This record gives sequence, structure tokens and C-alpha cells, in this order.
Amino acid sequence: MRRRLVLQQGLLTAAAVSAVALGARQEHSAALPSSDPVRTDVLVIGAGLAGLACAQRLRSAGRRVLVLEARERLGGRLWTVRRQGVPIELGASWLHGIDNNPLHHLITRELGLPLRVSADQNRLTIGPDGRPWTSARTTQADAWLASLARRAEQQAGPDQPLSRWLPPQLSPDQRFTLIADVVHELGAELAEIAADAPLGDGQPLLGPDALVPDGLDRLVQSLAAGLEIRRAEPVRQIQHSSGGVRVRTASGLIYQAQQLCCTVPLGVLKAGSISFDPPLPPPKQQAIAGLGMGLLDKIVLVFPQRFWQEASWIRNDGPVPGLWSEWLDLTPLIGRPALMGFNAAETARRLSRQPDADLLASAMGQLQRCFPQVEIPAPVDLLRTSWADDPYALGSYSFPAVGASPELRQELARPWSSLVFAGEAASDAFPATLHGAYLSGRQAAGILLG
Ligand SMILES: Cc1cc2nc3c(=O)[nH]c(=O)nc-3n(C[C@H](O)[C@H](O)[C@H](O)COP(=O)(O)OP(=O)(O)OC[C@H]3O[C@@H](n4cnc5c(N)ncnc54)[C@H](O)[C@@H]3O)c2cc1C
Repeated sequence: MRRRLVLQQGLLTAAAVSAVALGARQEHSAALPSSDPVRTDVLVIGAGLAGLACAQRLRSAGRRVLVLEARERLGGRLWTVRRQGVPIELGASWLHGIDNNPLHHLITRELGLPLRVSADQNRLTIGPDGRPWTSARTTQADAWLASLARRAEQQAGPDQPLSRWLPPQLSPDQRFTLIADVVHELGAELAEIAADAPLGDGQPLLGPDALVPDGLDRLVQSLAAGLEIRRAEPVRQIQHSSGGVRVRTASGLIYQAQQLCCTVPLGVLKAGSISFDPPLPPPKQQAIAGLGMGLLDKIVLVFPQRFWQEASWIRNDGPVPGLWSEWLDLTPLIGRPALMGFNAAETARRLSRQPDADLLASAMGQLQRCFPQVEIPAPVDLLRTSWADDPYALGSYSFPAVGASPELRQELARPWSSLVFAGEAASDAFPATLHGAYLSGRQAAGILLG
């Protein structure tokens, strides 16, 4: 099942909607296919942030670059959908740390777009008894997690799962904090995560997180400007030697170049959707197998009016641990009463198999438990993601799996033959982030330029 968008108009109508809302295309469409191989200097596979950043840098250096993208739309796991002109982020939402973040500079200085700094401290956490946590309870739970993370990071061996570092009896508050702040953050179960992993977004940049009210797709459009891109062209095979590459796509077309940068997500590499001839060397295969691919899914519910009290986050420790435990109030960002719910790891995987009506009933049941005094109106619009089922993502972002050292990311990024790999999973400083993907793409271009 691909990610779907569903518009509710009276009855819920499950309509697959093409989510391309890119406005005027500024990048060039590549020339029409012919039976001869298409030749260029460098092929870039994937038009997410890493691929676009790589291609732009190569192009500025005077290389002929062609980007091959499997989807109709650009941006990959940055996916902005516009509803009545209002941008809603179904992939990445935040710039994680705005100080020294290269994307901050691009968005505010070059594109002139405003940012909205996140107010994460404005959290309403509702316990299983329906009562809100006090701020002292929140502080205590946060401090417990920080001390657990510190101990595990300093003392755990690389092959230990985080679950082994937990006290034998978790209190309900501790369990909830682990789910909301670790399982949701990394998109993986506690038994899958390496105990010594830094919990968070890798080496954090300084400063607060921020959202882009005008939509992150503006960044994608700007990075794609002037590039030659072939959309709906999934790559199936990469033949390579030190002398060059020959690429076959699903349409049967052949592309040839001296060099290639592959930015497809780790999930796609793990699935073997692209065959390499000769096969990738063992260290690279071990890096691909060893790193984890996590899952975070979103649901967006737009309501006729706001029925919840003002809070940037509504967190709920309901009867099923991990189910609908976090909601972000989108109202101030998009100017319509809307909540964005998150599910991760196994919970997200289970929900992705549910039809829309069941998913909606489950979400509404949880919201009703949060606000028992309120008659909650039916939503007027519903959007959902299922990133694990998206064949061009097969998950949301990489995470430090048990046994995976940071060197695996460096190994993935190391050039080999006429190939180089880039993308968030190949960023050892900022994995699982937009800026990590962007910097990794720029770094790959630097390697190819020599
Ligand atoms: C739900 C969710 C929430 C997130 N939240 C945040 C956040 O708040 N902040 C943050 O910084 N990051 C966040 N991230 C992570 C961030 O989106 C990614 O790290 C980043 O977008 C990855 O960029 P990339 O270029 O490495 O990969 P991608 O964006 O996935 O680009 C890879 C491209 O390769 C294409 N492709 C795949 N297979 C083929 C093929 N066979 N042939 C040709 N093309 C192919 C894909 O279609 C895609 O366009 C989130 C991700 C998700 C899914």
C-alpha cells in the first residue's frame, strides 16, 4: 500500500491523490527517451535533499549532471502536501537546531521565508486516569530519561539493546516517557536500539527547532532549480567499474556516466531493489545490513473547530502503550484547527495495515479519552502516511541499531569504484535529519569533484 491521502466530505472517501503540489516547475525536463544510452558526466539517483544538494554542487562546478528520480514528485522523505493552499508536512517537519544549520541560512536568507520556532515546553500530558501531569511530574520523568541515556551511552557495550538498561519494573510514567521520547524519536523499539546510541538527532546543532510555515517544499523547488531531472524513472540496476557506470531503469532505458551518486534511502538499499554489478563489497553490505531503518507515521485530522485546550503538544498515556501517544497542534501553523498524530515502530506498522475508517475510529477514541467532557466533531479532512509501505522509502529514517557503530555510516559514505553513496543514513554527524541529508549530498559532490 502506498501512502494515501484521504479527503473526508460527509462520507470518508478513500481517494488516492497525487501529492505533487510543486507549482511551476523550474527544473528542466530531460530530453525524450531514445533507444541509445543517455550519456552525461554524473548520474545522481534520487531527488531528495541529498540528491538535489549533490547535483547542485556538481552543476555549479561545471559538471553535466542528470538526476533520476523514481517518483513523480521531488523531495523524497520531505513531502509537503497543500490542502486549500495550506502546506502540511507528511515527511520531515522541523529544522532540528537552527544555529549553524545550513538549511536555516538557505530558507531564511536565500528564500526569505520566515521560521516558526517550536515551543516544545508547552506540553499537555494526560495520564491513564485522565488527569494532566503536573510540571513537576514532567520534569521528573525527563530527568529520569536523561540519566538513563547518560549511563547507557557511557557504560553500555555496542551490542547491548537499550531495553537491557531499563529497571526491571518500569513505572507507567517511565514507560510513557520512553515511548514518547525514544521510540517516537528513533522510530524503533527499545530492544532494537543500541544502548550506547545518543538519544536524539545525533550530534545536535545548537538552538531551538523550527518549522517552516510556508512549506518545506519551497526548499525542494529552490534546490531543484536549473537541474536536469527525469521523474518517474526508478533505477533497477547499476553496473559499474572504475571507468564509469551504466544504469538500467524500470522503463528499460540505459544511462551512462563517468560517476554516480546513489542517494536512495537505506530501506531501499536493504531491500535490494537496486542490483549492483559487481555486487557491493562486504564492508558496504555490512553497513547497509547493520544500520537500522526506523518508522514514524503521521495522521493529520482537520476539524471544523478546535475542541482542545491550547498546547503545542498533547500527549496521552492511554490504555495501549504507544498508540496515539502524541499529538501536535497544527492550528497556529496552518491557521485551521488541526491535530497531527504520531505512531512509531511496531505500532505504526500495525496501524498501516488498517483501513482508513478503522484508523480514524481508533484515533478518535483516543482523543475522546483525552477530552471526555467534549463532544468531538467529525474531522473534515484526514491525511495519513504509511512510510514502511512506500517502495521508494521503505521506512522513515535510519537509527542506531544494536551492534551498529557510527563507523558504519562512514563506511556507507566511502567512495568505491565510480560510486559514492549519500543521504541521511550516510551522515555520521546528523543522521535521520534534513540537514544531515543535505550536507551528505554536498560532501558526496565534493568527493566526486576530487
Ligand atoms: C515521517 C518523517 C518525519 C521526519 N521528521 C523529520 C524532522 O522533523 N526533521 C528532520 O530534520 N528530518 C526528519 N525526517 C527525516 C528526513 O525527512 C530525512 O532525513 C531526509 O528527508 C532524507 O533525505 P535523503 O535525500 O537522504 O532521502 P530521500 O528524501 O528519501 O530521497 C531519496 C530519493 O530517492 C528516490 N528513490 C528511491 N528509490 C529509487 C530508485 N530505485 N530509483 C530512483 N530514485 C529512487 C526516492 O523517491 C527519493 O526521492 C523525517 C522523516 C519522516 C519520514
